This record gives sequence, structure tokens and C-alpha cells, in this order.
Amino acid sequence: MSPKKQGLNTICTHSGSLEDSVFKGVVSPLYMSTSYDFMEVDTKRYPRYFNTPNQEFLSKKIAALEHAEAALIFGSGMAAISATLLTFLKSGDHAVIQNDIYGGTRNFIVSHFKNYGIQYSFTRDLSAEAFEECIQENTTLIYIETPSNPLLKLVDIFAIAKLAKSRQIITAADNTFATPIVQNPIDLGIDIVIHSATKYFGGHSDISAGAVASSQEVMDKIWDLAKDFGGNLSDYTVWLLERSMKTLGIRVKAQQRNAKRLAKFLEKNKAVKAVHYPGLKSSEYHSLAKIQMKGYGAMLSFELKDPWNSEGFLKALKLIKPSMSLAGVESTMLLPSKTSHALLTDSERMEQGITDQLIRFSVGIETKSDLIEDIQQALTACHIKK
Ligand SMILES: *Cc1c(COP(=O)(O)O)cnc(C)c1O
Repeated sequence: MSPKKQGLNTICTHSGSLEDSVFKGVVSPLYMSTSYDFMEVDTKRYPRYFNTPNQEFLSKKIAALEHAEAALIFGSGMAAISATLLTFLKSGDHAVIQNDIYGGTRNFIVSHFKNYGIQYSFTRDLSAEAFEECIQENTTLIYIETPSNPLLKLVDIFAIAKLAKSRQIITAADNTFATPIVQNPIDLGIDIVIHSATKYFGGHSDISAGAVASSQEVMDKIWDLAKDFGGNLSDYTVWLLERSMKTLGIRVKAQQRNAKRLAKFLEKNKAVKAVHYPGLKSSEYHSLAKIQMKGYGAMLSFELKDPWNSEGFLKALKLIKPSMSLAGVESTMLLPSKTSHALLTDSERMEQGITDQLIRFSVGIETKSDLIEDIQQALTACHIKK
């Protein structure tokens, strides 16, 4: 059976497993060797060539999940993103970049592109028209990230892919928030899909990794630069990542189920001013989510009303951890104004709708009623009586 025809959970569990032909163990053997035979082989294997047995085989699982021909695994999401961007952007080229993107990606572009002679424009908003407006004669790449952080805005993936194809521009999508369980940008016409595997792929807040998936032709080009940048992941961690990815489907589906229920619970709560979640009927992105996603993901954000206080709320939580990063099996919350968006000025933050009262919620797999109880007790505790 071809991997595309298998069910998602079967791909997660079995695709790209290495066979233990010596002992017939059920899990992939771990090959830690950094030195391989060069005499009687077609492939010269070396960790930094991204082709040790564990790297090669786990890449097949990622490619199968993203409906791509090939994939590469990196030491971090940023290693994957930087290698991809610099493969397709040369001196004199121009990139159109979605306005709301991961802070690290934005920093990479703003701090370093000028040193490579690469031009860029950030879109004014997330509409396809905004992307079109930014296209120049020398535009070679369009970069999107949907849903966006922390307001869970969506970009119309098909519209962007269509626009780019009509101008022969390559497209890359950061699919970290959605995961291939919820969204497959390649099916909608995007060329390259990127993941911070530190998030849902790892899923247990204990692995740093990244991945890129695309056609074989595109991956060969990225590989050519990536092997010289040297951002490969150690085989031990590749092996751990494979173990994590076996449960990607069931984890994300459980997290997403919880997220939907919690979004509804928060929307009805008198302490909450707004909930940002594409799974809510009230979300302006709900109909687009239904078209391009298989579900709505497990990330959401919400804003507290005065006199409920967001910092007091996070401090009062007992089960949910106030914590950086996202996507673990444990629920975590953070304040974007104090973390991902701390470097913006107050007025820039206000312009983007990131108030001090905004809380980002990475929903875990805990029992829903326990999460609700924790939120309720923390709301009571953080209510400042005037
Ligand atoms: C975390 C994250 C990244 C960067 O990944 P690292 O593994 O931290 O390098 C990129 N994009 C998104 C959407 C992320 O959440």
C-alpha cells in the first residue's frame, strides 16, 4: 500500500521505520555511527549529509505525512527555515513575507537579509491582495505561516499558491501550528512545507528539531546548501523524534478536541473579552478553516477583561504551566506581550492587537474538566476588586 493511501495514524506509526533484520525487534534500530563504508556503496553516508540510516528513514515518514516526495530533518526549526530561505533567495532577489510570522523567522530576515543583499517586503495584512501588492519584478519567494501566532489568523493557502504559480514564484509555508494532521499545504499548491519539530512533532517538550518537505528537485537544492551549513540533527535525537511522531496523530487530535471545548468555554466566560480560535463559529476565519484545514488545531488565544488581570491569572494557575514554547502534551500558557512580542514598541503591539491582557494557550491532552477547573479557580484568584 502506498503511504498516501494509508491512514494518518498508520503513517505515523509505521512509515519510514528501519527494519531490524538482525534481531527482528519491532522498533527502528539506532545507528549512531558517524563513519560508513565508502568502497562498495552508492550512497556515501555521513551525519552532516543528512543521510545516516535514521535520518534517511524518518525523513520518509515526514514526507509521507506532508504528501511530499522528500524531506530533510534539521537540528531546529530555524535551521530548516534559514537553509530553505537562503537556498531560494540570492543577492538581488526579493521575498514577500507574511506580516504575522514567528519572531525568530522575522529576526532572521530583518537582521541578516541585508548582509546577503536580499530584499523583502512584509505584507500589510494576511489577505491575498496584500501579498499581490508586494510582488516585484525580482520576487522569487513567498513565505506564509498559517494559523499565525498568537492571534490564530489564517492565510488563504490556495489563493497564495495560485498567485505565486501565475508569476513563477516559489512558495514556502510554516506548518508548525497546524501539523500535517490538520493541514497539508502541498495539496493546496504550496511548494515547500517547513516545521519546527520542536513543537508538535516532538510533542513532549524535550526535543529540538526542524524539518522541510517538498519535491525531490527542491529538496536536492536545499540539501546542497544545508550540508554546508551543517544544521543536521544527532541520530539519537532523530530516533527519539521517530518515537514521538508515532503518536503525532492521536496527540494532535486529542489536543484539538480539548482546544475546541476550551475555546467554547472561554467564549462564554464573563471574564473573557475575546477568544481567537478558527474553530469558533464567531471567528472570521471559520469558513476558510473549513476549506483548508482538517479541524482547527490545538492553539488558541484569549483576552481577559478588566478587572481580571492576565499576569495574576497565569500566576494563579495550578495545573496549566505558564511557559514558553508550545505543543507539548501538557497545557501551557504565555503572555505574548512579555515573550514573543516583547521587543515591539507599545504602539506596534497595539496595532497588531497584542494587548497585555492577551494570553496564548497551547492546549494539551489533560482531562478537559481539570483544565476548566484550573482556569476557573485562577480567574477567581486574579479578579482585582476595585
Ligand atoms: C518555534 C517555531 C519556529 C522555530 O523553531 P525552533 O525549533 O525553535 O528553531 C518556527 N516557526 C514556528 C511557527 C514556531 O512556533
